Amino acid sequence: MLKYTDYDIVFSEVPGEVTLALNMSLCPNRCEGCHSPQLRLDIGEELTLEAVSTLINRFSPGITCVSFMGGDNDPQALAALVSKVRQLYPTLKFAWYSGCAALPSGMKPQTWNYIKLGPYIPSCGSLRKPTTNQHLYRIDGDGKMNDITSVFWKK
Ligand code: SF4
Repeated sequence: MLKYTDYDIVFSEVPGEVTLALNMSLCPNRCEGCHSPQLRLDIGEELTLEAVSTLINRFSPGITCVSFMGGDNDPQALAALVSKVRQLYPTLKFAWYSGCAALPSGMKPQTWNYIKLGPYIPSCGSLRKPTTNQHLYRIDGDGKMNDITSVFWKK
């Protein structure tokens, strides 16, 4: 099952996009220095197609992207959900912020327009630090993953 606790409209998590970001709970990761430890818990509401659609309709046409912040507990369910949402909103882009170090087996990159991979490691820092272990990829239509992490380091 996928669950979310809250959402926000953000401007820098996905470069060049106005993004509806959904914060998802049930995180199976245990990053040292986790910024939101409550997201490891079984809290929030179930993230269904209806729930995502309701939020998109509330913020359209102002948003250009929807980002799922989490969902590592069930990537297959997340991919299935996003495929359905994409059919309903073909002009929107879709991003996944995952704490996994690598794409889970069975997850096709082209499910997404953007994928962020990597756990948070305090000594490496966030995406905004050149020392980060995390990567943000822009995905081509054929599934090619282009590492665009360095856009966060330019002023
Ligand atoms: S991926 Fe890591 S930092 Fe993010 S909520 Fe899970 S444990 Fe915390």
